[in-house]
Amino acid sequence: MKAYKDLSKDELLKLKDELTQQYEDKKALGLRLNMARGKPAAAQLNLTMDMLDTVNSASDMLASDGTDSRNYGCLDGLPETKKLMADMMGTNPENVIVFGNASLTIMYDSVSRSYTHGVCGNTPWCKLDKVKWLCPVPGYDRHFAITEHFGIEMINIPMTQDGPDMDLVEKYVNNDESVKGIWCVPKYSNPQGVVYSDETVKRFANLKPAAKDFRIYWDNAYVIHHLYDDNQAELLDIVGECAKAGNPDMVYEFASTSKVSFPGSGIAAMATSAANIADVKKTMTIQTIGHDKINQLRHVRYFKDINGLKAKMKAHAEIMRPKFEATLKVLEDELSGLEVGTWVKPYGGYFISFDAMEGCAKRIVSLCKEAGLVMTGAGATFPYGRDPKDSNIRIAPSFPTPDEMEQAADLFALCVKLASVEKLLE
Ligand code: PLP
Repeated sequence: MKAYKDLSKDELLKLKDELTQQYEDKKALGLRLNMARGKPAAAQLNLTMDMLDTVNSASDMLASDGTDSRNYGCLDGLPETKKLMADMMGTNPENVIVFGNASLTIMYDSVSRSYTHGVCGNTPWCKLDKVKWLCPVPGYDRHFAITEHFGIEMINIPMTQDGPDMDLVEKYVNNDESVKGIWCVPKYSNPQGVVYSDETVKRFANLKPAAKDFRIYWDNAYVIHHLYDDNQAELLDIVGECAKAGNPDMVYEFASTSKVSFPGSGIAAMATSAANIADVKKTMTIQTIGHDKINQLRHVRYFKDINGLKAKMKAHAEIMRPKFEATLKVLEDELSGLEVGTWVKPYGGYFISFDAMEGCAKRIVSLCKEAGLVMTGAGATFPYGRDPKDSNIRIAPSFPTPDEMEQAADLFALCVKLASVEKLLE
């Protein structure tokens, strides 16, 4: 098939008629499909139902250090839970605080705490004229929502296949004192599936921030979320790298079991330096007397150790992989050679990122919606919901069944073609 840009006007007009007819036929099917949010499918949630049997009325409720998990106390998590979460993140238990049911709350609380009370004795951000934040794009909409909520000015940093553009990151962080943070999803990034290279991680660890209270928000949400057994990405341990580089306090790492056990009912943790842990705990002791330790115990008794977590992720991958592959096959079959969009096969995480021709993303998403397919809103992968090129669309293949996914991808590809032809005819 010829690239659309090389077609004559007459060819494009004819193609538009054909595609419009196909689109109307699809619309008439009254489909109700959803590729919007990165949620595990029910089949994945079923994988962990037996975890609910591990702690019951007959259970010994004492943790390894004798803590009664049913009672108040143990602010920063049971020792065995710290160990489990440390092993998940590839760090040491001394670096870990276990929080509640979700990592996004820890991220929100970290920004909020910095805003109202400052970071390690520095001026609270609410007292500063300007606070800026670096946002690798495309990225995770809920990250951007947090910084937008606090009125923090967000700056787009383009992603490369090795992670964020580090020349730009260094330029901003090392020279501008009002830059206080950066959102990073270093492994199987949302939405592109990019894994930060060793060089990128080392450049992060060796930043020389102009602001003493600059922190890297290292959201390792997909740290063990591989799709393939034989192609698993390795990521350097940022907490260790920062310590080695003489910047021990520069990073907060986050992770959770949301997409290992149950989203919303998992356990979440932060890994960071001793100084940061002490600083965070000052606020934590005001916020809570302790998190849900019964859930912590349930997770540890069920997964036992990192190998238990890894084995479960293999089972998740068995369910996820066919959906990713079905989607990629449709994109390949329907769109390759047309030069109407690009995408990269991810090896983990929850998303496929699609870059349409400039100025087409909103139209594609709206065509999909009209025909019964809900996609993540165009622009959602950028701060303020503004994609300057109106090009990026996030595809989330996890929730539908493989059949639904194929149907959805088919419709999506058709909408990409139609929107691209319309654009070329403008
Ligand atoms: N971070 C990233 C990058 C995500 O994609 C998601 C969920 O999609 C989350 C965090 C949410 O994690 P949690 O359920 O632990 O709040």
